[in-house]
Order: sequence, then C-alpha cells, then structure tokens
Amino acid sequence: MSFEKLGLRAELLKALAQKGYARPTPIQAQAIPAILGGKDVLGGAQTGTGKTAAFALPILQQFSEMRAQGKGPRALVLAPTRELAAQVCDSFQTYGKRLNLRSHVVFGGVGINPQIKTLSQGIDVLIATPGRLLDLSGRRAVDFRNLECLVLDEADRMLDMGFIHDIRKILKLIPAKRQNLLFSATYSPDIKRLSEDILKRPEMIEVARRNTAAETVAQSAYQVQKNQKRILLSQLAQDGNWEQALVFTRTKHGANRLATQLASDGIDSAAIHGNKSQAARERALSAFKNRSVRILVATDIAARGLDIQDLPFVINYELPNVPEDYVHRIGRTGRAGKDGQAISLVSQEENKLLCRIEKLLGRKIDFVGDEKPFKANATHQPKTSRSGSKPKNRSTSKGSQSRQSGNRDGSEGGEERNAKPRKWNRGESNRQPGSRHRRRRPALSKNGGSEGGPKPPNRFRKFLSKRAQASAR
Ligand code: AMP
Repeated sequence: MSFEKLGLRAELLKALAQKGYARPTPIQAQAIPAILGGKDVLGGAQTGTGKTAAFALPILQQFSEMRAQGKGPRALVLAPTRELAAQVCDSFQTYGKRLNLRSHVVFGGVGINPQIKTLSQGIDVLIATPGRLLDLSGRRAVDFRNLECLVLDEADRMLDMGFIHDIRKILKLIPAKRQNLLFSATYSPDIKRLSEDILKRPEMIEVARRNTAAETVAQSAYQVQKNQKRILLSQLAQDGNWEQALVFTRTKHGANRLATQLASDGIDSAAIHGNKSQAARERALSAFKNRSVRILVATDIAARGLDIQDLPFVINYELPNVPEDYVHRIGRTGRAGKDGQAISLVSQEENKLLCRIEKLLGRKIDFVGDEKPFKANATHQPKTSRSGSKPKNRSTSKGSQSRQSGNRDGSEGGEERNAKPRKWNRGESNRQPGSRHRRRRPALSKNGGSEGGPKPPNRFRKFLSKRAQASAR
C-alpha cells in the first residue's frame, strides 16, 4: 500500500515524502479511505501508530477540494492537553503547508486575546483543549456554523481528565450534521457510551488489540524499595549511558524533586508538569528533544501526546494508579515501528498496581535480576543534593488512589497523592497476570551489576548487554 494509492493529492504526497514517510501505517491505510468516503470513524489505535496523520490527511484533502463558506472552523479537533493540541496543530500545518488552508491551536495557560484575533481572521482547522474552547465560545470568538467535522483525539484521556461535561457542552454548540472521528488508545465502557452517542454507523478501525502496548516496546521491571528508586535510576542511567529517558512520577512535586536529585547526581534533568508555565514546559521539552537534557521527568498528563522521535527509554518511577495510563506512558517509546524499552521501578506497595496493569495487558512483566529487591551499597548512596537534603524514606506516605484530574484549559489538576500504603503479603505465591496474589518478585542484585561489584545474575547480565546495545544504536 502506498500513499498514492490512497488517492491523496500531490501537495500532501510531497509533504509526506519530505517527512520521510515511505508508506501508510495500518491505521492510516484503513482510516484515510473511510474518512475520505465521508464516514464516521471509531479508531482504536494505540499511541505512536500514526493516528494524527490518519485523520489530518483526509481532512486536509477534503477541505482543499471545497471552498470555505465563512470564517469559522470547518474541522474541530479536541485534544486533552496543550502539548498534544500543539503537536496535532503542528502536524496539520506540516502536512498542509502547500495547501491554502489555515490550522490553528488554542489552549489555556496563555493569553486569550491573540487567539480571539486569530479566530476572527478566519480558520479551517481548529485544534483546541475543551476548556479554552468553551471560554472562547463564551466570548463569541468562534463561529461554529461552518463546522463539518469533529475529531475527538485521545478521547479516553479526555474522559479520564473529567472533560466529559465540557465535551457535552461543545456538542450542543456545533451543528448536528457533521462527520465524527473518535480516536482512543484504550477502550473503556465510558468510551463505548460516548462513541455510541456521537458516532453514526461508524467504521470501526482497530489496528492493535485494545489496551495493549506496541510489540516493539520491551517491558521489564525492578523490585526496589521506594527510598532506593532514585539510586537505582541514577545507576541505570549512568551505567547504560542513557541519552534520553522519559521518567514518570505520579505527582508534580515528585517530578520536581526527582529532576533536582538527578541533576545533583550529575544527570542533566528537567521536569514537566501542569504547574509549570507553558513557556517552561516548552523549554524543558525542547531541551530534551535536542538532548541537552538527558532525563525528562513528567507527570502523566503533561507527557500525554508528547511525540519524541526515537525515544529509547520510558521509566515508570512510580506506577500509575490507573492501569490504562501505563499503556499511554510506554506508548511514548517504540513509536512507528521503532524499538523501545519500558522499565518500571516497583516498590512492594506497588505490586498490586502491577498486577492490575498485567491484567489489563494480559501478560506478565518480567522482573530483572533475582532474589532480593535492589539495595544500594555504600558506593551507591546518592550525593547530597544541591539543597543539601538527602532523599528521605517516604515509605509511609499517605494518599488516595485518585487520578490526576484535568483543568479546563488542558493543564493538570491538583497534586495527586500517592497510593495508600499497603501491607505486603509475604506468603504470596507465583500467580497469573492480574491474579490477586504475588510472590516476592526476583529483583536486582545488590549493586545492580555495575563495575567492581559482585557479578550480576545471568538474566540481569543479558539485560545490561541488551540495554547497552540499545543505547549504542
Ligand atoms: P502519532 O501516533 O500520530 O502520534 O504518530 C507517531 C509518530 O509516527 C510521529 O512521529 C509521526 O511523525 C510518525 N508517523 C506517522 N505516520 C507515519 C508513516 N506513515 N511513516 C513513518 N512515520 C510516521
């Protein structure tokens, strides 16, 4: 299958060739003809499958063939976060640069007046986070009368972030007669309900089994105590000579703290989360993309939709409370058929979360090493951080299982607290993915296999050499 065969016009084909896309990805091969045929689409595509081009290309193609009737947008793309919205807009502008079409993005956290001005000048494709769109609509800055197409991108995340009410409000503002495209990496009963409400006789396109990660992502885990995680992470990054790793924490505060601690270990790091200004987020992201920062520590919502070319490592410094978030996180690596590694640092308290993730994936995630959980020896004690404070054992932190919730402007909600401390059932037995009981998992050897210490166990040696190969690539 080629892009030419999909009937795309020469201007789009040129842009695709310039991007280096040789052939359509499976979601593109299926969605482009359906969308060009005017159908509603329910796209069950995991992250990194090329779903943005799957809807952007046919929308641009259709609009380039028909003249606009007014100044209002003809397509509206709703996205959960500012970063994703900006990236989607970037894709529309890149693919459509030879067409006389205008694509713009609006999101919260930045001034509204320039957005009002841009909208008043006329627009073809509007990419928006739901809250800011409603604010703009409240100021009568958007004319929805010409709207022909609605795209809900990463709809599962929008629901997770509590945007359902905003989405329902927006649905009341836009013309009933329109084409609807809904894309979601995971498929929950809520998504099913939403799609039944919005889509009319949709073409169901699913390019991967639901709730799975890309096959190209190698998944592994370390059993490690909470207060040893940062030491293990520093060690892995340094031993493996990691050039780029996206590290997930559950809280904004945790992201800041970890980035500072890693920096004090000599690893250039930055944090990205919803409390940072848009400019600070963009600065951190571009430093990470141009590799002046090796580790980007992020919360789930801030990292959602980030497209970092050839990202080799995703680290779950803390497991997410919502198993679907695991799929989203590790989808940042192994994109567009490339290899990637997802490594989870799992404390005893998180074993149940791991079970839930494994249940969702329908597979086990192997632990690296064997016997005892990772324990740093004296040579691996972290240096004193710049602030002079040593990492504390916070294993008694309290908290709830609440999710991070989104603000209306596509930024993050309040600080999420850690999962409730749980007793570790020592007598747990080996179990199937998702079963309730878990045996003490094999874990990393004492020094994690670094130079000068006792030899790591076989499995871990293999893993180290694979990792070295991956980082050399
Ligand atoms: P997405 O799932 O839309 O976020 O896309 C994931 C990544 O795949 C992005 O970096 C795209 O630039 C890239 N991509 C999209 N379509 C193709 C294609 N046909 N061939 C190669 N890479 C692609």
